[in-house]
Amino acid sequence: MFALLVEDSPTQALLTLAELERVPNVKVEHAVSLAEALEYIQRQHFDVVFLDLTLPDSVGDETVKRFCGAAPELAVVVLTNHDDDAQALNALEQGAQDYLLKASIDAASLSRSFRYAVHRKRAEILVREARDAALEANRQLERRIRQIDCLYGVSRILESPELPVQVAMEQVVALAPAAWLKSETIGVRLTCMTGLLPGGLVQTPNFIETAYRLEAQVFAGSRPAGRIEICWAEHPPVEGHEAFSTSERELVREIARRVGLALERACVQKELVQLATTDFLTEACNRRQYMTLSVAEIQRATRYARPVAIIMVDIDHFKVINDERGHAAGDEALKAFVVMARDLLRDQDIVGRMGGEEFAITLPETALDAALIVAERLRIRLAGLQVPVASGEPIKMSASFGVAEWKGGATEGLEACLGRADAALYRAKALGRNRVEVAAE
Ligand code: GH3
Ligand code: MG
Ligand code: MG
Repeated sequence: MFALLVEDSPTQALLTLAELERVPNVKVEHAVSLAEALEYIQRQHFDVVFLDLTLPDSVGDETVKRFCGAAPELAVVVLTNHDDDAQALNALEQGAQDYLLKASIDAASLSRSFRYAVHRKRAEILVREARDAALEANRQLERRIRQIDCLYGVSRILESPELPVQVAMEQVVALAPAAWLKSETIGVRLTCMTGLLPGGLVQTPNFIETAYRLEAQVFAGSRPAGRIEICWAEHPPVEGHEAFSTSERELVREIARRVGLALERACVQKELVQLATTDFLTEACNRRQYMTLSVAEIQRATRYARPVAIIMVDIDHFKVINDERGHAAGDEALKAFVVMARDLLRDQDIVGRMGGEEFAITLPETALDAALIVAERLRIRLAGLQVPVASGEPIKMSASFGVAEWKGGATEGLEACLGRADAALYRAKALGRNRVEVAAE
């Protein structure tokens, strides 16, 4: 066992050293100042330090405080000159394990104090370690609870059917930092492939590009759909410490998985809506969707007393195209007509495939004369169109048009207006096709 005596008085040192040497199995070193003592413990292992409080470079409580601060693992026995209980108690509070009165020092009391201090220090360390372990366990538990809470919150957001995808993703991104003990230091960014998320990207204001970043890929079904990144927005973590724990990595992967499921569900829903409202071949509105949108337009026009016009279109001798060039070529021609019409019309105009090679177009905010100009443009553009097909010459075609302005004042219904446009269309057919006819009042 090793002891260090810190004593500046040569006579007292001689006395104490003499007694210490009588303690069996103890080797003693001697320092005369606090600075020298601190040097000693740097170089060499000691089991106990006998510490005089009045040294040339430190006096009283300060001596214990400084020494124990520098060597928190070392057992310290304070040597006091007077029978000063207050000072002795202070020393114990500052971290010493025991105290001895210099006047009553002998080998027996030194030996007893030596063993007592060592045991007491060991017990102190054990208690401290147990307390630290309990605190750490608590911290870990709190982390897990936060992570579970976060995941629960994310699931609730993603499973709310009424939330639009963009809003749901914004809420998920805002919630994610709550899984961390210091949530304010966590930045989150969710990037999505175009088309999946209207904005393409959602992030917290404190997201930064940094090396301390967790990343997880998002898959919608088996398709890559984007990625989630979590960053450490404050100063970097302590050297040698991982910025993110294994459970945090798993958490981010799990959030990514759930986001992917929600995106996939949103895609499927979008496709279902698309299927229910769109004509499969030409991607124009199907008949039902055309009627729904046009009725809404007429209601709007009624309310604000605005004009609406309708054009009915039927491709001329379409049967001949089918017969001569084949059904697949006929399909291409129908698609080409819709692409051409969409290109020429305004975004607000509603194009519906009413059946076969017959289309209806609703023009909001459009009176008869303007609608006639539109119909004429469509007719000319179509007549000049050459639709490339796999085999043979490009297909050429024409169409006949019937145009009606909706009778707002007389509160005409959509069906009636369509009927008038249709009658005009049949007149165009009868008058030789490839022409525009105006509906009767
Ligand atoms: P008209 O000038 O009097 O309108 O003559 P038409 O031949 O265009 O009129 P008709 O109504 O007699 O024939 C329409 C043809 O359109 C018959 C049908 O087979 C064809 N058709 C309907 N739907 C489709 C389709 O989706 N694809 C193709 N390729 N043809 C279609
Ligand atoms: Mg036809
Ligand atoms: Mg027809």
